[in-house]
Amino acid sequence: MPLLTKAKQRTVISALRDSNVRDIEQNYNEPAKLWCNEKWITAACLRCSDQRCIRYIDAEISCGSFSDFPYERNLNVCPVDAIKWNFEKELPEIENGKCIGCGLCAARCPVGAIFKADNKMKVSAPESDDYIDLPINYENLVKHKYFVQEVDKIYWNHQFQKESDRIMEEIYEKISHYDGRSMVPNVLVRNLIIALNHECAISRAGDIYTRMDAVYSSKIKPKCSGVVEIEFGRDTLEASRGILDDIAVMHSRNNLGKKDNAALVVCLSFPNKRQGYFQVIKDIHRVLDLKIQTISLGALLLLVWNGAAVNFLSREFYVDFDNLSIRGITEFRLNRHVLLSEGKLGILEPEK
Ligand code: SF4
Ligand code: SF4
Repeated sequence: MPLLTKAKQRTVISALRDSNVRDIEQNYNEPAKLWCNEKWITAACLRCSDQRCIRYIDAEISCGSFSDFPYERNLNVCPVDAIKWNFEKELPEIENGKCIGCGLCAARCPVGAIFKADNKMKVSAPESDDYIDLPINYENLVKHKYFVQEVDKIYWNHQFQKESDRIMEEIYEKISHYDGRSMVPNVLVRNLIIALNHECAISRAGDIYTRMDAVYSSKIKPKCSGVVEIEFGRDTLEASRGILDDIAVMHSRNNLGKKDNAALVVCLSFPNKRQGYFQVIKDIHRVLDLKIQTISLGALLLLVWNGAAVNFLSREFYVDFDNLSIRGITEFRLNRHVLLSEGKLGILEPEK
C-alpha cells in the first residue's frame, strides 16, 4: 500500500510591528516603501495566508455582468505557472527561467513586496526588526485580513518597471513560444484586464460553443462592459470579423446592446496597414456606427506596470485606417512619454 504523504502546511504569517501604514511609494525596480509612524520601511512579504500574488479566488475570475458565461476556472495569477509557495522559507518563490516578466504577481501584492531588479523577479523577505512572524491562528488571520483591507484603501503609485525596447523584446520573445493552442495568451490577457480593475472571464479551454474569447466589465461606475477577442497570431482580420459575431450574440442573447458593448480586440502586435484590419474597423464604424477598440499586449503591460486607470467606455483605444496609433492615449494614461521607439513590435502603432 502506498504511503500517504502529509500535505505541506503553512505555519506562520508576518506582520509589521507597527501596522499604522499611512502611505506607500514605489520606485521602479525596487520594493515599495511604507510610511509608518514618521519613517519609511522597506516593504516585505507578509506571508499572506491567501497568497494573492499566486492565485485568485473564484469570484475574481468570473464576470458578474455575464453570469451565464461558461468561464475558465484557472485560478493562477501567473500565466506561465512560474510562482509557487516555498514552504521551507514561507515565501513565494519565482522560477526566473520560466517567468516572462509580466509583473502580474507584483501588481497583486498589497504592499509592493515583489519587484524586478537585475532582470530577475524578487520577493523582499521580512528580515528586519520592523517585521514579526506570527503563528497561524484565527486571531492572527483576522488581524492580517483587516490590515490588508486597510492597506488596500491607500491609493499609491504602482511603479513596477520602466519600459524599454529591450525589455519588450524579451517579453515578446518569451510569449511567442505559446501558440493558439495554448491557454497562456488568454490567461495572460484576462489577468492583465483584472489588474486594470475590471472583472474579466475567459471562455473555457476546449469550449467550441462559446464564440467570444472573453467578457469584461469595469468595477467602478459608470459601468462599462464588453466582449474581447484575443488574437496573438497573424490573423487579426479574423478578430475584426469574430468580434462582430460576438457583438451580435451578446445583443440577441444577453441583452447587451451594441452601443453598450465596448468591444475590445487584444493583439500581440498591431497589424500593418496593408493587412486590411484597420480598413475593416473603419468600415464597421462607418456602416454600423460601432467603435471597436484595439489594444496590444505591450500596451496592457505598460498600463499595469504603472498602475494606470483605463476607461474603455469612452472608446479611447479606438484606432482605424485614418488614425493608427494608441501612443497618445497611452501616454495620457501614464502621464508621461512612453520610452518605446516608434513602431516597436507593433505595440503602440503598426511596425515600420
Ligand atoms: S508577496 Fe505580497 S501578496 Fe504575496 S504573500 Fe507576500 S505580501 Fe502577500
Ligand atoms: S512576473 Fe509574471 S510571469 Fe513572472 S512570476 Fe510574476 S506573474 Fe509569473
